[in-house]
Amino acid sequence: MKWDFDARIRRADQLAQSHPAARDLLSFYGQLVRFQAPIFDTLRSGAETDVRALARYFPQLIDLVARTGPAGLADNGRARLVDASAGEELLRSASEDGVAHTLAADPYGRFFARVLLQPYAEYLASRGDVHAEPESRICPFCSSWPVAGVLHGEGEGAKRWLLCAVCSTEWPFRRVLCWNCGEENKDRLPIYTAPDFPSVRVDACDTCRIYLKSIDLTKDGHAVPMVDEIAAVALDIWAEEHEYSKLETNLLGM
Ligand SMILES: [Zn+2]
Ligand SMILES: [Zn+2]
Repeated sequence: MKWDFDARIRRADQLAQSHPAARDLLSFYGQLVRFQAPIFDTLRSGAETDVRALARYFPQLIDLVARTGPAGLADNGRARLVDASAGEELLRSASEDGVAHTLAADPYGRFFARVLLQPYAEYLASRGDVHAEPESRICPFCSSWPVAGVLHGEGEGAKRWLLCAVCSTEWPFRRVLCWNCGEENKDRLPIYTAPDFPSVRVDACDTCRIYLKSIDLTKDGHAVPMVDEIAAVALDIWAEEHEYSKLETNLLGM
């Protein structure tokens, strides 16, 4: 894995220091990744593939959220995941139908399902080669939507990839092409940057008003896209003020 769980924890700790405005979010995110890491290791060593088996982690996750998460989130988890079968059902539907599509109107369910589905889907993705069709809108491995773009240096320039919100697979996607509606006119695809976040940019589309943040690894080789995306939350606020919206949220639901 390109950015394993340890790399995400280190990056979250580091960015919490350098980005005080996002410190609480990054510290909660860091706690969630610390919770996910041993689940990934257990899956890998035991070759467990039944997603429902993950439901046993829900009580522990709810305790963690009660200690370190936003008010109300743990209460929602307690109410909906009251017994093991409710947890199993949430995981089954989220994994079969896709987190993004089935749980779009249920941000809490999406949160709890995704914390456990990420290490599960990343483990499954790590076992096989993924062959991406050019310019695919959805993840070639698990069919989820991208959470961010990633710019990798190539020759003199950079090539854009999309990063899956669930299994963290990356797949190539043309830079001048709207991920959501297929707009190709570069005058309708503005790119916004801010001095506080030199390696993060907003790739927007004036046709469908959807945006995606991209992390530019040619500007910061230490960036860990799923973490840097959260640290740059100020850009989301800016984008929303300018009437752009995001289709897929990050793990924190933002
Ligand atoms: Zn995926
Ligand atoms: Zn568009």
